[in-house]
Amino acid sequence: TSQPLDDTSSEALQVLHRVFGYDSFRGEQQDIIETVVGGGDALVLMPTGGGKSLCYQIPALVRSGVGVVISPLIALMQDQVDALTALGVRAGFLNSTQDYEQRREVEQAFLSGDLDLLYLAPERLRVEATTRLLDQGKIALFAIDEAHCVSQWGHDFRPDYLMLSQLHERWPDVPRIALTATATEATHAEIATRLNLKSAKHFVASFDRPNIQYRIVPKDSPQKQLLDLLRTEHAGDAGIVYCLSRNSVEKTATFLTQNGIEAVPYHAGLDSRVRAKNQSRFLREDGLVVVATIAFGMGIDKPDVRFVAHLDLPKSVEGYYQETGRAGRDGLPSTAWLAYGLQDVVQQRKMIDTSEGDAAHRRRLGTHLDAMLALCETVQCRRQQLLAYFGQTGEPCGNCDTCLTPPESWDGTIPAQKLLSTVYRLQHERNQKFGAGQVIDILLGKTTDKVKQFRHDDLTVFGIGTELKDTEWRGVIRQLLAQRLLAVEGDYGTLLLTEDSAEVLGRRRDVMMRREPERAARSSSRSS
Ligand code: ADP
Ligand code: ZN
Repeated sequence: TSQPLDDTSSEALQVLHRVFGYDSFRGEQQDIIETVVGGGDALVLMPTGGGKSLCYQIPALVRSGVGVVISPLIALMQDQVDALTALGVRAGFLNSTQDYEQRREVEQAFLSGDLDLLYLAPERLRVEATTRLLDQGKIALFAIDEAHCVSQWGHDFRPDYLMLSQLHERWPDVPRIALTATATEATHAEIATRLNLKSAKHFVASFDRPNIQYRIVPKDSPQKQLLDLLRTEHAGDAGIVYCLSRNSVEKTATFLTQNGIEAVPYHAGLDSRVRAKNQSRFLREDGLVVVATIAFGMGIDKPDVRFVAHLDLPKSVEGYYQETGRAGRDGLPSTAWLAYGLQDVVQQRKMIDTSEGDAAHRRRLGTHLDAMLALCETVQCRRQQLLAYFGQTGEPCGNCDTCLTPPESWDGTIPAQKLLSTVYRLQHERNQKFGAGQVIDILLGKTTDKVKQFRHDDLTVFGIGTELKDTEWRGVIRQLLAQRLLAVEGDYGTLLLTEDSAEVLGRRRDVMMRREPERAARSSSRSS
């Protein structure tokens, strides 16, 4: 460190008071700021709403020169610059949305030392003119926002981020601070390697968001379940509803509006002006609901989002954590609600099977999905499981559905054997594969047309599973999938045995299952 810490901290504190109007630093902000002001590198893992921006904005103001912020969030740069300008901070941005004149003005300001912060889209660095420009000015620091975008294994990879390893080679004396809210240990390590942050100090905040109540319910009629939730617990609240497809985004937004809840759609297929308008309405108005694909929300700083609802299963725990993290930045009680069903698993498996990329990539996507399923089917505290995924430990939280209404766990070994042996018989006696629907019909002994057509009523397993209802069998299948005792593939979601299935069939392994608590069962039957 080149400056005595006392000076650094008092200057930083003054900037915090004078410019931002806050009394004190939060969490590790002060340590982080001191590190960067002193010329050191920092890698910051902090949940959404934790206060990452100040960690580079204050050092940029304290150090001489311009703080250069690399951010993939082009759509938000104008807002960020406006917000800083309102505080009297001199800020500008360079990205592809600007024309020549606008760009030149910012470049001029940069060169003449009239900027405190310059936001830069990563692809700008591919242009030689930009790097030459940076050479001609004085850089206080590089901030690499959304640093997980450098991770090829993660859920939000941006190829341009790989170039950021050059920053250190080209400007070795400029301190760098990389920040992200996505933080498995694997991503963490990858960021450090790929950004060449060998001597960086690591700051890992707790990822717990205690004011968010996590709830995961079995999906039966998702729109009605959602409406029920909004009417009973979130009337008049602002919130985000995530759907996987544009089509279901549109349908859900219309459905809510028709039922008296003001909702607007947001997805990549909309005209960019409509998208910008819906986004800014969401930020400015009270109590608006945005129904969106995951394209919405990265970097959105709206403190009073009271709920985040998922009508489809997110593809990974990291994605789920990030999306739900947009709720309750103001620290007030908020809800993260997810409805998921067997069809989600079938659909995502299909997407993985047909996705581009090599076998290793598909395996990785499969691992992400499995972790998400495990979170859905757990009988433990959701928060504990979520934090464990990020390598952090905690006590049962008392503020998630499994803590509030503990699900029973029951010995599902016999139903598991019945189901797996049905799949086995279809595969080995008949050389056939079927989806969940047909397998359940066989277990329940239903003589449907399809059962007659394939003479499935001749199978020895026909009708051996009448002790459970259709929906209960679906639960059994979901849980076998989550425990990798069963697999699903293809367009029709056909069921297959896995390597581990034999252990259950051979009675060498017991299978514990989760029984949905009464509360969930009641609310889903009320809404159907
Ligand atoms: P992140 O980027 O980590 O999601 P932000 O930097 O947007 O979080 O900060 C979240 C909110 O907390 C913002 O409204 C910000 O102004 C506020 N904030 C950050 N640090 C402090 C602090 N030390 N005191 C009070 N408010 C703060
Ligand atoms: Zn809990």
